[in-house]
Amino acid sequence: MAQDYDAPRGTDDGSETIPLEGLNAPREGARTAVMELDEPDLVDGFDLPGADLSGIELTVEVVPVQADEFTCMSCFLVRHRTQKATEKNGLSYCADCEG
Ligand SMILES: [Zn+2]
Repeated sequence: MAQDYDAPRGTDDGSETIPLEGLNAPREGARTAVMELDEPDLVDGFDLPGADLSGIELTVEVVPVQADEFTCMSCFLVRHRTQKATEKNGLSYCADCEG
């Protein structure tokens, strides 16, 4: 009887509240520390491929249209002249857009 009365009282009141608070605080601190360490790594990893991709995109845009190609003025895709469906006012339209 004496033990039964003591056990729930101790768990309910004291030990449950204190350990929870004690566990939460250190966990948040540890997560923040890990994130701060990870961030520079991620930025570095994304920086190199990102720069490469933008360079490729720019190159594709700058590449001049070949003599046998045209830029559709509707979808703005560079097409082979065999795909040109019509030309209005010097502007070319591909078969896809001309329908
Ligand atoms: Zn088109």
